[in-house]
Amino acid sequence: MIPYGRHSINKQDIDAVVDVLQHQFLTQGEQVPAFEKALCDYTGARFCTAVNSGTSGLHVACLALGIGKGDIVWTSPNSFAASANCALYCSASVDFVDINPITRNICPVTLEKKLQHAQINNCLPKAIVVVHFAGSSCDMQTIYSLCKPLKIAIIEDAAHALGASYLNKPVGCGEYSDIVVLSFHPVKSITTAEGGAVLSNDPMLAQKTTLFAKHGITRDSDLMDGDSHGAWYYQQIDLGFNYRLSDIHAALGISQLTRLDDFVQKRRKIARRYFEGLADLPVKLPAHYDIAQSSWHLFMVEVNPQKRREVYQALHNLGVAVNVHYIPIHLHPYYQNLGFEKGQFPVAENFYECALTLPIYPELNEIEQQNVITAMYEILS
Ligand SMILES: *Cc1c(COP(=O)(O)O)cnc(C)c1O
Repeated sequence: MIPYGRHSINKQDIDAVVDVLQHQFLTQGEQVPAFEKALCDYTGARFCTAVNSGTSGLHVACLALGIGKGDIVWTSPNSFAASANCALYCSASVDFVDINPITRNICPVTLEKKLQHAQINNCLPKAIVVVHFAGSSCDMQTIYSLCKPLKIAIIEDAAHALGASYLNKPVGCGEYSDIVVLSFHPVKSITTAEGGAVLSNDPMLAQKTTLFAKHGITRDSDLMDGDSHGAWYYQQIDLGFNYRLSDIHAALGISQLTRLDDFVQKRRKIARRYFEGLADLPVKLPAHYDIAQSSWHLFMVEVNPQKRREVYQALHNLGVAVNVHYIPIHLHPYYQNLGFEKGQFPVAENFYECALTLPIYPELNEIEQQNVITAMYEILS
């Protein structure tokens, strides 16, 4: 079976992990700070807090921004549920901004209209979580210019987009946002098995992010209430969580990060072969842009919605484990119970009806990819 996504682990990765197991602290050692620094160096962000998942990262991002009861957070319906759940964890409420059918990211025109409406009704969001779907950056300049005058915080859910660029800068640099969240789940650009990171350029936000990821406990006497009792002393000054990444995971992350550019180049090559190989088929191929170079986390095509189920099954029968991203968040029963309805975000719903995720990952070789393309021809031409 050819999966839709898969990690790549080499000897260097294994040696890095084994070295920690044999010689180093398993947690709270040197690997986590080194990984955080390497992520800052790669992306250009000033501050980084490594966490134990992208989902934890989204949660602490919301906490650091002070999101709580009575606040509203907007996100894309075309995403993994974690992009919206983070607001609910903080007792805030969630709403969605429909996507653009070409970019499959939050549509800036829809966003502008929704903001105007919310401003009139005095229900502006406190933050927006934008998702760089499939690894292709959102139109951050426009989103920034719409949100900043209204003092709406911007969180980039960049779980798909480590290794991508926007206006010639790495995604993660945070030029047009307050906080950027990464995920290192095995299907993402690099992996630590489970893991994530929170990037920002604002020292106050970075301090809060770290605090909320580490129980709300500090050893910094400047943050303490009263005087320190001595070098052993620490205080809990807020209610945080244990979202730390371990040094075993961080060592894997450091090693993987040295391979990221190679991974992304391989993904881009696979994407180019799909563009050539599928050009004559009745499928809609993804858009791609010079100003937003994709990391090609996913290669999504759209097929006739009446045939999607059949095509999905036929490809599986031929050994190609295509997938579908995403079931729009608002259509999940949990969100339906919150009052969302089918038809509310029709562009994301239509995309879902047609969507098919083809295999793309660094170790997908030319023969395997040709098998995928041949299978697509057998079924669709
Ligand atoms: C993977 C993913 C997450 C969650 O990351 P985890 O590390 O699995 O918790 C969040 N948002 C998006 C868009 C993702 O794809």
